[in-house]
Amino acid sequence: MTHDGPQWTTPFPEDGRTDAGQAPAGAAPSTGSEAAPAGTGSAAEPDVAVVGAGPAGLAAATVLAEHGADVLVVDEQLRPGGQIYRQPPASFTERGGPAGTAIPAGRRLLSAAADAPVRWWPGTVAWGVFGAGAGLDDFAAADAPPGRLRLATHGPAGTRLVHPRLLLLTAGAYDLPVPFPGWTLPGVLTAGGVQVFVKAQRLVPGRRFVLAGAHPLVLVVAAQLIAAGAEVAEVALAVRRPGVAAAWRALPAVAGNTGKLAEGARALGTLRRARVPVRFGTMVTAALPGADGTLGAVRLADLAADDTPVPGTEREVGADVLALGYGFVPSTELARQAGCATRYDAAGGGWVIEHDRWQRASLPGVYVAGEVTGVAGAEQATAEGRLAGLGALVELGRVRPPTADRLARPVRRELRRRRRLAGLLADTFAPPDAALAAVRTDDTVLCRCEEVTVGAVRAALRGHPHLRTANAVKLVTRAGMGMCQGRSCQPGLCALVAAETGQEVAAVGSYTARPPVKPIPLTALSDPG
Ligand SMILES: Cc1cc2nc3c(=O)[nH]c(=O)nc-3n(C[C@H](O)[C@H](O)[C@H](O)COP(=O)(O)OP(=O)(O)OC[C@H]3O[C@@H](n4cnc5c(N)ncnc54)[C@H](O)[C@@H]3O)c2cc1C
Repeated sequence: MTHDGPQWTTPFPEDGRTDAGQAPAGAAPSTGSEAAPAGTGSAAEPDVAVVGAGPAGLAAATVLAEHGADVLVVDEQLRPGGQIYRQPPASFTERGGPAGTAIPAGRRLLSAAADAPVRWWPGTVAWGVFGAGAGLDDFAAADAPPGRLRLATHGPAGTRLVHPRLLLLTAGAYDLPVPFPGWTLPGVLTAGGVQVFVKAQRLVPGRRFVLAGAHPLVLVVAAQLIAAGAEVAEVALAVRRPGVAAAWRALPAVAGNTGKLAEGARALGTLRRARVPVRFGTMVTAALPGADGTLGAVRLADLAADDTPVPGTEREVGADVLALGYGFVPSTELARQAGCATRYDAAGGGWVIEHDRWQRASLPGVYVAGEVTGVAGAEQATAEGRLAGLGALVELGRVRPPTADRLARPVRRELRRRRRLAGLLADTFAPPDAALAAVRTDDTVLCRCEEVTVGAVRAALRGHPHLRTANAVKLVTRAGMGMCQGRSCQPGLCALVAAETGQEVAAVGSYTARPPVKPIPLTALSDPG
């Protein structure tokens, strides 16, 4: 893997590699310059532009480059790895800790990508796709090669347009934000956010932690905090402890997937040895401020059989950080803005991008892989990335369809195996929607960018009974119009609108995604390079 431009960080120095990746047999050696290491594209006209250097993007880029395609990978992070294989800055000298390279699968992926002639634009956000007939379609159209999509990026070199022959979107997922009383207090974080501090910055962002939610990630993060020397007061899971009957039903999904379960068991073992109480059937009902206005305590309650808090069971636990893990939301904004078709998949985290068996989205020239197609874990993301790479190689004419079919066969087998486990985990650790609805009050902030409360949305729905969709409520209340473009409030708002109007969440739809899908400076729009 090489990087274009001297001002950016070297991808893998702690592994002893340079930024000039070794080319595989038959491919031209990479140069580390703007010149393409293989294929015929220029810096801005690669065969394939990949957005996201997580498991899906790395797996796809490696397959593509190994077959001679010119691949450019763009990621807003400074180092590749995505969420699970996240790495600390290259300048950190301390070894160990829960970095991406500590996980064997991560080490293999990162190392294979580093050895492949893949070009890499780190610290670069992809903020719009143009040329597909969606809104603002004439943006920077003047110099674009006809028939190609235009990917707008912004990074250390300013705004750069990429005109790839094919575009692969592997933007991953983010923590599901859950509104409840006190969730905007300083000290209330997501479990994934806390993990980023520990993994990437070697920093424990607090003294006394409570971890709560419904996803097994809270167990993993709690164990990582213990290993980093933090005090964990309690882990509260708003799901039932799986019983013998559930374990029996789970057996077919567990077969061939024991690694993930072992990870959970190891985390539980770490917590038990540290004498951390892990309570199932328990949820957070409020985050309470301390004397200085930051988080001082967490209010927890037992869950009744109907998934609502049991009155009289509430208790307070002192903490300066509450880390919440209720699951993940696919990062579909760029694919939706481009115009790719979506479908609602509750088990997959909400709105996901439709695709065919080669990961082709509905929009010609666009592929999708990993958690944008549904939250299902790093192994599934890796397998989908490989399939997308093979599909793109066929479309580029670099691999014949029978060869792609043969290479894809073991990948498809792996996908089937991983999907069984993903389905089981989604069922067992689903966010407790009834409980979350029960603790929301009118004062609870829903859209933190525009400071729109639950009460304001309820009032809008009462005042305008014809409002039934997320977009309509957005227009009336401004929820979703802020910096985060609705990434934070959309799941909560859709659940609220569905509950108040008696519809399924899917019927409420999603916010229309508009460029820029992520915050960029205004100059990025006036000076497209
Ligand atoms: C916060 C968090 C923590 C997690 N921790 C664990 C864990 O400890 N153990 C575990 O088993 N699983 C964990 N998961 C789940 C696991 O990370 C995923 O299953 C896996 O990483 C999915 O791979 P992916 O390639 O689809 O996406 P990701 O790994 O999420 O990679 C997507 C990449 O795309 C980049 N990106 C997104 N949008 C843009 C854009 N517009 N422009 C440029 N770049 C962009 C991101 O920076 C990211 O690097 C975690 C997930 C999250 C969200």
